[in-house]
Amino acid sequence: MRKLLLALIVVILLPLTIYAISIYKTIEQDGVKDVMLQEPWPITVEEEPHPQDSEPTSSEEEVSSAAPQSLKEVEVTKTPQSTKEANDVKPLPIDKPKYTKIPILMYHVIEDYSGTYEELYVSPQVFYQQLEYLKEQGYHTVKLQDVLDHWHNGKDLPEKPIVLSFDDGYRSMYTAALPILTEFEYQGTFFLHTNNIDTAGGLAKEMIQEMVASGMEIGSHTLSHPDLTKISTTRLQQELIDSKNILSEITGCSIQTFAYPAGRYNKEVLVQVEAAGYRGAVTTEYGSASAEQNPFCLKRIRINKSDGVKGFVKKLQANEPK
Ligand SMILES: [Zn+2]
Repeated sequence: MRKLLLALIVVILLPLTIYAISIYKTIEQDGVKDVMLQEPWPITVEEEPHPQDSEPTSSEEEVSSAAPQSLKEVEVTKTPQSTKEANDVKPLPIDKPKYTKIPILMYHVIEDYSGTYEELYVSPQVFYQQLEYLKEQGYHTVKLQDVLDHWHNGKDLPEKPIVLSFDDGYRSMYTAALPILTEFEYQGTFFLHTNNIDTAGGLAKEMIQEMVASGMEIGSHTLSHPDLTKISTTRLQQELIDSKNILSEITGCSIQTFAYPAGRYNKEVLVQVEAAGYRGAVTTEYGSASAEQNPFCLKRIRINKSDGVKGFVKKLQANEPK
């Protein structure tokens, strides 16, 4: 009986035990498999962003499509800013003019020196040689109002434009400057203060009319040549408006340009010059006039007696029209 029981245990329990052990081992192996399967996950995760798969390609597209968008955004936001900045600096309407920098020369007396303000005198001989130089260099003289038209209304200008301006209206404008300008077929812009008209040292009305008929521009330099920053608004308006009307009557032309006596001006003067109907004004500040300057604060290049021809050439070379 004992033998039978032992045999039964061996027959039944042994296989059960073996089965149980085998199941345990399978579970254990599965567990190990699970662990081994989990191990590569981080690798798979790491591999995901790599570009071989379809997803990374789409994420690449996102990146590449996002980049131009952000660039576009930058461009879009930059363009209006730069346009606005440009508008603030340059009050020019349409296209950039051919010449944005044009020299405006400033002369006073064209005669041999005799008097007090020596530097205001340029002898007719030297003046002639200076114009010869301009001709050789291919300069074309234009009126100041042509320059304003070029900058603000798109008027065409000849090659290498230059303005020759003359202040105060001395008699020598007619006796010396006009014949030389006419010989070179050049133009000049003459700023006259009207109290000087029909005086011994000044220009007679008929002389002014002859100058206009020869293609010269007449601009205003006030009635009495005062310091415009030191007079009342009423007087300031008189100086600006009355002189304009007087010159307009003599010449039969609209007077469009103005020169500040002794280069003196302030904000109030600028406002009143524009209100009086002028289109632009010149100062005595040194340099080329530019389309970027306030048209009522245009710079000029003073030509002194001491410049002679050499100094003149030097000043011109440093201020070529552009
Ligand atoms: Zn003056």
